[in-house]
Amino acid sequence: MNLHEYQGKEILNSFGVEIQRGMVATTPAEAVAAAKKLTEETGTGWHVIKAQVHAGGRGKGGGVKLAKSLEEVEQIAGQIIGMNLVTPQTSAEGKKVHQVLIAEDVYYPGASEPEEYYMSVLLNRGTGRNMIMYSTEGGMDIETVAEETPHLIFTEEIDPAVGLLGFQARRIAFNLRLSGQAFKQMTKFVSALYMAYSKSDSSLFEINPVLKTSDDRIIAVDAKVSIDDNALYRHKDYLAMRDLREENAIEVEAGEVGLNYVDLEGNVGCMVNGAGLAMATMDLIKQAGGEPANFLDVGGTADAERVEIAFNLILRDPNVKAILVNIFGGIVRCDRVAQGIVDAYKNIGTINVPIIVRLQGTNADIAKDLIDNSGLDVQSAIEFQEAADKVQMVLS
Ligand code: GDP
Ligand code: MN
Repeated sequence: MNLHEYQGKEILNSFGVEIQRGMVATTPAEAVAAAKKLTEETGTGWHVIKAQVHAGGRGKGGGVKLAKSLEEVEQIAGQIIGMNLVTPQTSAEGKKVHQVLIAEDVYYPGASEPEEYYMSVLLNRGTGRNMIMYSTEGGMDIETVAEETPHLIFTEEIDPAVGLLGFQARRIAFNLRLSGQAFKQMTKFVSALYMAYSKSDSSLFEINPVLKTSDDRIIAVDAKVSIDDNALYRHKDYLAMRDLREENAIEVEAGEVGLNYVDLEGNVGCMVNGAGLAMATMDLIKQAGGEPANFLDVGGTADAERVEIAFNLILRDPNVKAILVNIFGGIVRCDRVAQGIVDAYKNIGTINVPIIVRLQGTNADIAKDLIDNSGLDVQSAIEFQEAADKVQMVLS
């Protein structure tokens, strides 16, 4: 589950990570009230207005702006709230902005210039350990840094059973070329950040930029946080932060009925039982010259009701030009699945895209007869290749 920047910062703050303070607003009036309140507390009078959407690169798309007066806060908030924010990480249509974060300006000038660093905590699946990735080159695309100057990205591996050790936090501060007060603040920052990541069961905490202010405070200016879905049952407070408006509507609906659906770009919808077979089916579609429109694992019980729900989900995607059903009847009998498909088809009424059904396993031949004699616009196959050829045919 992904969170908004302001929610990620709330979590950071609860673990003692220093953050750029701010308040959320959904209208320009709320934005002004928030700015007034922040000014009373800190007194700089300058604020940044930051679009809250689940996408990075907001700065580049015009979703992060500095306001030097309350009039500017009102005007900029009015611009950003309701806009369709297009960033390098969104689709061409962009993402609708429902709320903004009004944050105190932390880039105030001083004796020395503020510095921006990059830092993230994530799981290294290869080693089964957590890892902190960090760089002196913060504030910009970390992907570009990785490509052009990979030696400027450091990693620190952490044994999840032991946790982050003191010398590791000091090594990070050292590699970021800090000294004195800033060095001390950075070790504190890193320890608290790792604690936040670990205790919240997250799979990612990305802070870009981490800021060193001119008076040597270390502050999280941005926060991209992903919490492991499988751990949400023990974090009801984080679960309440879920913003369904940011998620794919079909995926949300599938989740509600317990189906594993992932929306993809292509034109061939698929309905498969088992994640492994679903992956293989997606490969097959690609090989046949198509592109999968989704990943969908209907699980072990491919009965009429479930098949009907699955068809309806797939058909909500306007890009779908054909549907490939690929079911292996190991525990479930193929003829029962075939009957389910026929019943579901009749219940839905008209389906305007060709359907290819490949059933393999127990009673596959009976299932094929059932489909072939149903009088519906459904083509059957038993072999994988046969199904692929039929997909190719309906696409051409
Ligand atoms: P992103 O573009 O979605 O990653 O959003 P960020 O939260 O990282 O903000 C983008 C950029 O806005 C940062 O890299 C900063 O350069 C700038 N920014 C953020 N906060 C402030 C602030 O308080 N004052 C000023 N002047 N700039 C800021
Ligand atoms: Mn950022």
